[in-house]
Parts: sequence; C-alpha cells; structure tokens
Amino acid sequence: MAQEYDAVFVGAGHNALAAAVHLASRGWSVGVFERNETPGGAVRTEEATLPGFRHDLYATNLGLFAGSAFFKEHGEALARHGLALVPAEDCFATPTPSGRWFGVSRDLEQTAARAEALSPQDARRWREMVAEFGGNAPHLFAILGSPMSWRALAGIGWRTWRAKGTAGTLELARLLASSPREFLEQNFVSPEIRAAMGAWGMHLDFAPDIAGGALFPYLESMVDQAMGMVVGKGGADTIVRAMVARIGELGGVVQTGCEVTGIRHGTGGADGIRLADGREVTARRAVVAGVTPGALVERLLGGDSGDVGFDAGARRFRHGPGTMMVHLALSDLPDWSAGDELKRFLYVHLAPDLDMMAKAYGEAVAGLLPVEPLIVVGQQTAVDPSRAPEGRHTLWVQVRMVPGEIRGDAAGIITSRDWAEAGEAYADRVVDIIERYAPGTKAKILGRHVETPADLERRNPNLVGGDSVSGSHHLSQNFLFRPMPGWARYRTPVEKLYLIGASTWPGGGLGAGSGYMLAQELGRR
Ligand SMILES: Cc1cc2nc3c(=O)[nH]c(=O)nc-3n(C[C@H](O)[C@H](O)[C@H](O)COP(=O)(O)OP(=O)(O)OC[C@H]3O[C@@H](n4cnc5c(N)ncnc54)[C@H](O)[C@@H]3O)c2cc1C
Repeated sequence: MAQEYDAVFVGAGHNALAAAVHLASRGWSVGVFERNETPGGAVRTEEATLPGFRHDLYATNLGLFAGSAFFKEHGEALARHGLALVPAEDCFATPTPSGRWFGVSRDLEQTAARAEALSPQDARRWREMVAEFGGNAPHLFAILGSPMSWRALAGIGWRTWRAKGTAGTLELARLLASSPREFLEQNFVSPEIRAAMGAWGMHLDFAPDIAGGALFPYLESMVDQAMGMVVGKGGADTIVRAMVARIGELGGVVQTGCEVTGIRHGTGGADGIRLADGREVTARRAVVAGVTPGALVERLLGGDSGDVGFDAGARRFRHGPGTMMVHLALSDLPDWSAGDELKRFLYVHLAPDLDMMAKAYGEAVAGLLPVEPLIVVGQQTAVDPSRAPEGRHTLWVQVRMVPGEIRGDAAGIITSRDWAEAGEAYADRVVDIIERYAPGTKAKILGRHVETPADLERRNPNLVGGDSVSGSHHLSQNFLFRPMPGWARYRTPVEKLYLIGASTWPGGGLGAGSGYMLAQELGRR
C-alpha cells in the first residue's frame, strides 16, 4: 500500500526527530525514513566493547539538548517516554605535564579556588566573567535561537543596544569576531585556564587562531559553571528512544533500514521520496531532508536543484577536519597524576596549551596524523554508573583533530595512508598519551573499540571525512552563510523541500535548533 504523510523526513538524526515530534504535536502526520537499522544519527549508544558496557559511540554531552527551546516545550512529554538525564557537577578539566591543572565545577567556590592557585588575577576575572554572563546570555542565545536573517539580526542588535548601550553591544560583537586565543589571552594569564577553555573551540573546528572561535569556549564554560553538564541516563540514546516513542504516540512512524535515494518533485514542488527498495512515499505538505547540502543536490536531486547558485554553493560547502573515537571498557577509572579529583570530572581534556592545539589542527588540515592530537576523555560512568557492570567503567575518547584522508604521519611512524590499517596504530598513540597523564590506564583496559573518520562517514554519510559537526563553522560558513549565502532559512530552490541538520544554522551539536525552528514555522501554517 502506498504510504502518504503530511511531512516526510529523510534521515532520523535528532533534528529530524525533533521536527517530527513538533509537527506531530500540531496534528501533522509524519513519516521518518532512516537508512541505518537504528535511528538517532550521531546519537547512538551500543555495547561496543563488552557486554554490559554501554558506550555513547558519538555524541554524549546533552547540555545543548537539555537547554534547548525544543526541550523546554516537549521535555515533559519526552520524560513520560523514559527520557532521563544525569547531571555532572564536575564538568571539564585540563591537566598539564607539570601537574598543574584547572577544572570547572558547578560550585563556583571550587572553580575559583582552582583559579586562585594558578593566578589570583585570573580568579578575580573568572568571578567577574561569571557575574557578567547573566547580562550577555540573553543576547547571545537570542542569536543562536533565531532563524537566521538580516531582519532577525537587526532586531537582536537593536534590543542588545537598548539593554547594553553602544560600548556593551560592541564588546559582544567583538567577542563574536574573536579567535579563542585573542579572547583568552585578553582575559587570563594562566596557560592552564586558557587551555581548559580553548579546548572547547576544538570540539568544533575552531583552532586557537581562527576568527569567530571564541564564542563556544565562552558559552560552554559559563553555562557549565552556572548549570553543570548533563548526560543521558544509561546512554545518550535516551533522547532518541523517547522522541521515537513520542512520534509513535502521536500517530507518526519512524522506519529504519530505508535508504532514501531520491526526492520526487515537479512544478508543484517536492511531493515525496524514493527508497532504495523501489518504494515511493508521498508527502502532502513538506519533504524535510536532514542531510548535507552536497548529498541533497548530488544524491537526492540528481545534481540539479533548478538553481545553479544553490548547486554551486552545495558543492563548495566545506567540511572540517575529522574525528576519531576510541572506546574503552576499563576495570577502573584512570589514576590521573594531577590528582584523584580528576576522576570525578565528566570531561578531561588532554591538551595542555593553545600552541599544541594550533599545531594539531595545522597538521590535520594538511592531511597529517598529528604527533599529539587533542584528546577528550569522557568519564561518563563517574556520573552514571548504570552504563557499566558494578565497579567497572567506560571511557569515551574523542580525538580532535585528524585528517579525513591521510597524506602522512607528522610523527613519521605510521606509514599506511588507509584508515582501515592506520586506525588501530593511531589509537595506540592516543592510549599512550592517556597513559602519560594517567600511568597504569593501559593495564585497566578490558576491551577497545575504534571508529576512524572513515567508519564515522560509513555509518552516517553526514559526517563527511569524519567531520563530527557536518561542516566547518568558520565565519564564512556560519550565521547568514550557513549552509550558504541566501539559504539560511531551511528553504531550497524546490518548493516544499527543506534542508535541516547540523550543516544548516545554527550548526552542529544537539540543540535541535534547525529541526525545531523549521517545524515551528511549518506548524504555524
Ligand atoms: C563523535 C561525535 C561526538 C559528538 N559529540 C557531541 C556532544 O557530546 N554533544 C553535542 O551536542 N554534539 C556532539 N556531536 C555533534 C552532534 O552529534 C551532531 O551535530 C548531531 O547529532 C547532528 O544531528 P543531525 O540532526 O544533523 O543528524 P545526524 O546525527 O547527522 O543524523 C542524520 C541521519 O540521517 C541519515 N541519513 C543520511 N542520508 C540518508 C538517506 N539518504 N536516507 C536515509 N537516511 C539518511 C543518517 O544515517 C543519520 O542517521 C558529536 C558528533 C560526533 C560525530
């Protein structure tokens, strides 16, 4: 029997699921079609190493989701379907080889005491920055939470000017334009604090000297200080399971194992999709694709959207360097040389200074395996022991950054140019670095699962070259330019065909922004 819905979604990433939840709650019939056997895209939890060890294979930090406008509206309904979050009071820390370290805990006195031990001047500046944040946050979140247009920006600019005056508005604009290094060196003297905050830029593709990169380190640090971090109880996929269940409750369907191979469109715009198994699905009001602009044009529209500018923009769309994941099952948490306190932190960043981050980024964009990448060590079981057998732990290790295609090894040791061969050898380098900061960790490893940039892309084609946020976030491809100039509002040249997902404004991460903003607009029709 032919299937027919008001809205048909390509891919079951969290943005598409959020949009489907919202539209279904407004009475639309929705059908979501996902190529993988599991929905969720970059949100996926699996027993990847050993039975009983639940690893968030990709995304783990649910702070953006918990703080999102989508969650504010639909969180209660999702909680009825089992969505559960676990807070982390000790958020992120950076140890250095000297043994000095800085970490941000939700308790301001604890954070400030750590800053004081490094530099009394920085401790004062930290407290000031935290106090100022309340005045800056509404304006910054207004930008990130608005569909992107000149009119929206002008309105936010006007309101900011009324609240903060000319000097305050210019100061915020300067923050938006600054590189992480400019912002951090202007505010803090201690290399440990600079490194701890600067590491957040590297979660996107903001190495220390990239303009526009200061915003995320600032926001994540201040939000973590004010609210702490959160992970999903039992795994990040708690959000996916709850959204899928809510869609079902509202009469919608999420079908997995269904690769979408084309979008049907004619003079009336898009009216359905074609599946790899030959089936067609009709969309009465909207086709919503949660893919990259390149995949939309090349794979789903046969290379021609009907607008040469859009097609050229889609082909020009730039992806950032790759990510590699190393998942470990451990008999116990690492014994960090910097101190036992580090065992309590959700994230331990192994990136002792801004210069090493800049070097790792430079090597990765040049196609080289970095001598020393930035390593994000996620200790989820420190806050959510339910993810591993009693007394055991998982370690979530994100490697930033690595090349999507290997041209060489900056250390001159790994000779293979193929991730299928180089992956395990590079994971050994990563584990060796962890061992340097936490001697004895290797002996605690019970199981290991590695996903290279090539694996990431194979399991989710939106992660081109292992780019974990589906497109560079540099200023030339952000704000009004995301995914390309003139197309920041989720429309495409094909009527009734919309593009959402991390490649579109407001970008990567689990804020459900593009899905929710588009669904709000469609739902009002
Ligand atoms: C390793 C890693 C770690 C991350 N860590 C965090 C984190 O801790 N916190 C955070 O906020 N963000 C994190 N992110 C980023 C965040 O996970 C992503 O930006 C976000 O999940 C993107 O969501 P999306 O809605 O764009 O869809 P995606 O998650 O990209 O999912 C798209 C889905 O569409 C499917 N699809 C694509 N093409 C087709 C087709 N033709 N037919 C059918 N289905 C198709 C794919 O299989 C996929 O399931 C991380 C990402 C990665 C990779």
